[in-house]
Amino acid sequence: MRTTTGWRADPGETALRKAALERRELRADDIAVRIDYCGVCHSDLHALEAHAARSEGPLVPGHEFTGTVTGVGGGVTRFAAGDAVAVGNIVDSCGTCAMCLRGQENFCREFPTLTYGGADRRDGTTTQGAYAREYVVRERFAHPLPAGLDPAAAAPLMCAGVTVWEPLRALGVGPGTRVAVAGLGGLGHLAVRFAVALGAETTVITRSPGKADDARRLGAHDVIASSDEQRTAAARDRFDVVVDTVAVAHDLGPYLRMVAVDGTLSHLGHLGPVTVETTDLLIGRKHLSSAGSGGLPATAAMLEFCAEHGVAADIELLPSSRVNEALDRLRRNEVRYRFVLDMSDLP
Ligand SMILES: [Zn+2]
Ligand SMILES: [Zn+2]
Repeated sequence: MRTTTGWRADPGETALRKAALERRELRADDIAVRIDYCGVCHSDLHALEAHAARSEGPLVPGHEFTGTVTGVGGGVTRFAAGDAVAVGNIVDSCGTCAMCLRGQENFCREFPTLTYGGADRRDGTTTQGAYAREYVVRERFAHPLPAGLDPAAAAPLMCAGVTVWEPLRALGVGPGTRVAVAGLGGLGHLAVRFAVALGAETTVITRSPGKADDARRLGAHDVIASSDEQRTAAARDRFDVVVDTVAVAHDLGPYLRMVAVDGTLSHLGHLGPVTVETTDLLIGRKHLSSAGSGGLPATAAMLEFCAEHGVAADIELLPSSRVNEALDRLRRNEVRYRFVLDMSDLP
């Protein structure tokens, strides 16, 4: 086994403590990555809370990271020591099902192996995430980090970024498309940047009027406060695509009513049951969809696009020793728009 250092929650705990961690020895198609930066995702909070309730095994969160290759297995062809890489929330899949064959490893019918809390497909061990100094990953699930992308600001692209990128592309967003992004957080601020860079007319719908200036700085052409009844009424049937990144359970009705005829509400921010009035779909022949994470081809395309268009996350960079503070502040929504941990304080 290889050993590294990371931030681990012991059984029954949500607080993370510095601990020695084991990584597997490199298999033929593995690379070892020195993790330089890892984003702090809402899923990490949910995982820690679920973990504390279950009291099973230790948990190391972290599933959007960038770093540097430090070692390669004997069969590795795409990477060499010293290469800059990026890894997201999926580190393996079956590779043979219909979803994998079409490059949608995120929808693998045998369920993709998650970067943490997943079961390794070869030895069955539980994967431990990237709040750590080193990760060992199949080369197929690592991406070259294009030159010109800041490695700290690029880390959140690997989960938050691709989660909004894939639906925007699948829904054909581009010049002439009218897009609204509901919720301006980790997902939402990247959805705005992507939609603007793709050439769409982009509006932000926010419950926090104080975010209007930020929305415009991110490139939004218009901002609607969801409390403004006049503006929301005037936006009825207006948007080809509404990207809903609101992270708590909420009524979809007000957003569906802003979708144009034959347009789509893409519901991304909150996993859980939703209630829909079918008349909100019937009137205007509207579509309701969802998405999560991304396949390997879409992730690679996103990174190229980001390098070309200078798109990355707005981050607050903290030394990894402040990880518990980052999680507390994320819980209280006190971040614009993503915490990223700098792992250089780990041995
Ligand atoms: Zn995530
Ligand atoms: Zn599969």
